Amino acid sequence: MMEIHMVAAADSPEFALLCWALRSSPVVGLDAEWKPNRTIRLRHQDTVGGGDSAPAADLPARSFPTVSLLQIACRVRRRPSDPVVGDSPVFLVDLLSVPLVALWDPLRDMFESSSVIKLGFKFKQDLVYLSSTFSANGCDPGFDRVEPFMDITSIYHHLKNPTMGKKHPKDTKSLAAICKEVLNVSLSKELQCSDWSCRPLSEQQILYAAADAYYLLEIFDVFQQKIITKAAAKSQPSPPGQNFIATVIEKEIIPESGSNKLFTECCESSDMLDDCLSNNVRRHGEKIMLKESDKIPRTSRRKEKKQSSGNAKNKEKLTCDEDWQGPPPWDVSFGGDGSPKFLCDVMIEGLAKHLRCVGIDAAIPFLRKPDPRQLLNQAYKEKRVLLTRDAKLLRYQYLVRNQVYKVKSSLKNDQLLEVIETFQLKISEEQLMSRCTKCNGNFIQKPLTIEEAIAASRGFQVIPDCLFDRNLEFWQCTDCKQLYWEGTQYHNAVQKFVAVCKLND
Ligand SMILES: [Zn+2]
Repeated sequence: MMEIHMVAAADSPEFALLCWALRSSPVVGLDAEWKPNRTIRLRHQDTVGGGDSAPAADLPARSFPTVSLLQIACRVRRRPSDPVVGDSPVFLVDLLSVPLVALWDPLRDMFESSSVIKLGFKFKQDLVYLSSTFSANGCDPGFDRVEPFMDITSIYHHLKNPTMGKKHPKDTKSLAAICKEVLNVSLSKELQCSDWSCRPLSEQQILYAAADAYYLLEIFDVFQQKIITKAAAKSQPSPPGQNFIATVIEKEIIPESGSNKLFTECCESSDMLDDCLSNNVRRHGEKIMLKESDKIPRTSRRKEKKQSSGNAKNKEKLTCDEDWQGPPPWDVSFGGDGSPKFLCDVMIEGLAKHLRCVGIDAAIPFLRKPDPRQLLNQAYKEKRVLLTRDAKLLRYQYLVRNQVYKVKSSLKNDQLLEVIETFQLKISEEQLMSRCTKCNGNFIQKPLTIEEAIAASRGFQVIPDCLFDRNLEFWQCTDCKQLYWEGTQYHNAVQKFVAVCKLND
């Protein structure tokens, strides 16, 4: 049975107990919960119809989710005079009701204390959100360092394959899968996506939240036990009991342990074990450092995407993985001219032609085989959104914010619709075929007469004779000089795009 303490106020006995436990635990398990972020659809102003400029207030401010619950499972080391508490109390700290300024110091001390091993499962993301939550509530800067830290995935890989050291396979198991395998405990996953900002939390939510932190300690225990057993196996003929372990550990400890500053505040009786452990923590542990760039919300949710794939702990708290997060660089409220401009990656040049057919400015790369930097440079300079099928390019969002979008559809017509819907483009029938599909250029404003068209086409483009006696309009691209006319092809194309864009609906 877990011992759960709800901490909801700074002047409560539970808060005092938490502060004591944070100082008295050599090992803590950490987890955090937040309300899932729903994808926000931007309501763009009708830029074609003109009118008012888009009010900035309509645009959502991009920010990290607010952490509403912090779970801390403590493996306490109790002295007789200490508060009466079990050896592994789990604290559920309600960040919606506890004043964060009261929590900031004890939390930061624990995060940075060399004598507290912090355990977590992919805790960096939690720390980013936690830090931002505290920063936003008067505790600026938030948290930027957790050390020493051990990721449960690293521990798991050590248990599976002790010789591998810090290097382990990239595909990671979910916390539930690790718990099942190491502890034969089944963790419920149902509530991961529940609303963690609702109060009171349901009993199920409380148990779920506590378990996520508590079992980190249990997995660590197995790790710790394995270290001792391994050490025991190395030094065979030894008497059982406490001395046995001490002897074993003496042999296991590497000479450099003298320089080890971990656990200096620990009780004497456990020093040997701690030394052995700290060696292993140093060998397998790590630290989490948040850089300034980690503290800025990005459009790319690649990291989260990666986490939720591969059967990792499915922190479905972010549902907007590769969705467009706007506003685009042409948005009038951001100094743009309101007319959408795209750059289509080489893989989707067909989409560029389709976009031009519906009158949208869609460029292609200058170079035939551009590298990511060249693509991004062009998008940035020309204030275009780079459309690509290459998810790898999303990782450059930090260079050009709101300027990369991964097209999900694979067929041209679907891609066109996807882009129209995602960027809320207004397509009218007059816009169809209003742009050079060959080079993305504009047409000269005034349609040409037949004579002008013939003159313009000389030595360059053949105009079928049969067109001359028909009263057709010609247009010429201002850039590549290509001539277009209102023939059968034109009418077919218009019909096609009226259908594709559902302009008649
Ligand atoms: Zn052209």
